[in-house]
Amino acid sequence: EKFSREKILKIAEENNVEFIRLQFVDILGIIKNVAITIEQLPEALDGKIMFDGSSIEGYTRIHESDMYLKPDYDTFTIFPWGTSGGCTARMMCDIYLPDGEPFVGCPRGALKRAMAEAEEMGYEMFAGPEPEFFLFEKDEHGNPTTNTHDKGGYFDLSPVDLGGEARRDTVLALKKMGFEVEAAHHEVAPGQHEIDFKYTPVLRTADNIATFKFVTKIIAMQHNLHATFMPKPIYGESGSGMHVHQSLYRNGKNAFYDPEDEHGLSEIAYYYIGGLLKHAKETTAILNPTINSYKRLVPGYEAPVYISWSTQNRSALVRVPSARGNGTRLELRNPDPAANPYLATAVMLRAGLDGIKNKIDPGEQTTDNIYEMNYKERKSRGISSLPSSMDEALKHFQESEFMRETLGEHIFNHLVEAKKIEWSVYKKQVHSWEIDQYLTTY
Ligand code: GLN
Ligand code: MG
Ligand code: MG
Ligand code: MG
Repeated sequence: EKFSREKILKIAEENNVEFIRLQFVDILGIIKNVAITIEQLPEALDGKIMFDGSSIEGYTRIHESDMYLKPDYDTFTIFPWGTSGGCTARMMCDIYLPDGEPFVGCPRGALKRAMAEAEEMGYEMFAGPEPEFFLFEKDEHGNPTTNTHDKGGYFDLSPVDLGGEARRDTVLALKKMGFEVEAAHHEVAPGQHEIDFKYTPVLRTADNIATFKFVTKIIAMQHNLHATFMPKPIYGESGSGMHVHQSLYRNGKNAFYDPEDEHGLSEIAYYYIGGLLKHAKETTAILNPTINSYKRLVPGYEAPVYISWSTQNRSALVRVPSARGNGTRLELRNPDPAANPYLATAVMLRAGLDGIKNKIDPGEQTTDNIYEMNYKERKSRGISSLPSSMDEALKHFQESEFMRETLGEHIFNHLVEAKKIEWSVYKKQVHSWEIDQYLTTY
């Protein structure tokens, strides 16, 4: 929806809005809030609300920490859950410096830069995500566990699906906030759910993912459950992915569609796939940002491991769903819901655009199940693997000029540093698995 300053002030008054949360994400994609009262709304709309960036992950600059929140009017949304005495609204913000320049460390800004490049080339990107998550019980102290009493499975409607109600309420809340929810269902693992929303222009999609995550957490809390977007919370069960359906539009028409082609795909679509595949290794650190992410990317759980594309099977990294015409799209299957939605969409878009610019051939599609091939067969067909750990992903990321350029020096450097620390701390841990395995054997 398009909002003007006047319209926002009017709606806020009519709906008895008392508080407004000015939201943005840090470099890791964690949502942050600066809450203001209704009296401050006019000032906020003018971008005059300041905050101290030095306490935000990845925002620090040595000499300046004053930053300004510039709300995107079109993201004005009233939270549908009640608070006593007046309700709360929110706006997503871009971050600016006191000199009026956009802050280079703002993830939303990174996506906007990628979108501007697409626009220059004549394209607009649309994206539709399929985030998966777990709903877990809390213990008697209110701390989250990894327990679920739910015995439901994929698409099940089961009376013991305790999370089903929380999921339902989440969908209702999202709808009231203007989301078009396409599907919501139980996933394969116990306690695992998925809510898919309809594709929108990519900036809206990234805002929606950020919003969706905290709405899901709040509604779960109201049901005394804990919602987690951790990619692989339980060994031996499916992990949570966030497949992203993507398409480019040109002059109001889907640029991926070509009825003349054997697969109904345009040259642009093939090049876009080529770009996604070519940059798969270096973008993984963004799309699968945690150490835990790589425990999901293993064979046997419908998560991709190998770098390939297919119009048929779901073991491929890029799948082409069967819809054609304006619904023509590509589904990238490695992203997980821990990814920063702005950086994730920025790197996917730029990878695709690079494919178009450099006419990158995606090669033959893989029609056989890659999981059934051995190393030699994969090698002879030129199918390589995604990085298998955060360490490996980080190495590809760090060496990538393309990623540095896509994210900008500030975000790139900060991520390398933060992830290196994370890895070095992890690497020294002694896991309970090692104790079980070695303590008595040696
Ligand atoms: N949970 C799977 C993953 O990790 C996806 C399952 C599905 O949606 N078919 O990506
Ligand atoms: Mg799905
Ligand atoms: Mg799914
Ligand atoms: Mg999917």
